[in-house]
Amino acid sequence: LVEDVMRKMKLVTKTHSVDLLQNDEGVIYADQVTMRQMMRIFLENSVKYTPQGGHITARARRLPDGGHIMLELADDGIGIAKEDQQRVFERFYRVDASRTKADGGVSGTGLGLSIASWICEQHGIEISMESALGKGTKMLLKIPLAGEKPPAERKD
Ligand code: ATP
Repeated sequence: LVEDVMRKMKLVTKTHSVDLLQNDEGVIYADQVTMRQMMRIFLENSVKYTPQGGHITARARRLPDGGHIMLELADDGIGIAKEDQQRVFERFYRVDASRTKADGGVSGTGLGLSIASWICEQHGIEISMESALGKGTKMLLKIPLAGEKPPAERKD
């Protein structure tokens, strides 16, 4: 799914280099349309907030608990200061416009991450973030693997 979203975004790109690393496989049950939207939001942010020539990586691995896939979407862009890291998931919140502007004149509504976090919530996906100013941002999505039956068929 990530690979397909990247291809559709033409993220196999002239401006940034991209790596897709998949160590493990696993089945998840999810709404494909909203999952694609969510990936697109994270990846578009990585493109927007990473200067040209930067690097974007998507990596999926199965966690030792056996019940989750960890999807990491990382860039080596401008990063997010510690004090902003929780707030960027709020509606309309954008990090200091002047700094963002100085780093490439990008614009946005400040809604992307709030939508992405709502989609994650609906799918039982936990989001965490590792970011440092000037170094880059990594979004970690802990995605529950499917049980034996699709959720709709469960009787419990
Ligand atoms: P849009 O809603 O159009 O995507 P946006 O990018 O401003 O606009 P969000 O996606 O909600 O909105 O992001 C909120 C803020 O978080 C951004 O304005 C930016 O300051 C910061 N941000 C998000 N992703 C990154 C990233 N990968 N690197 C650095 N800053 C980021």
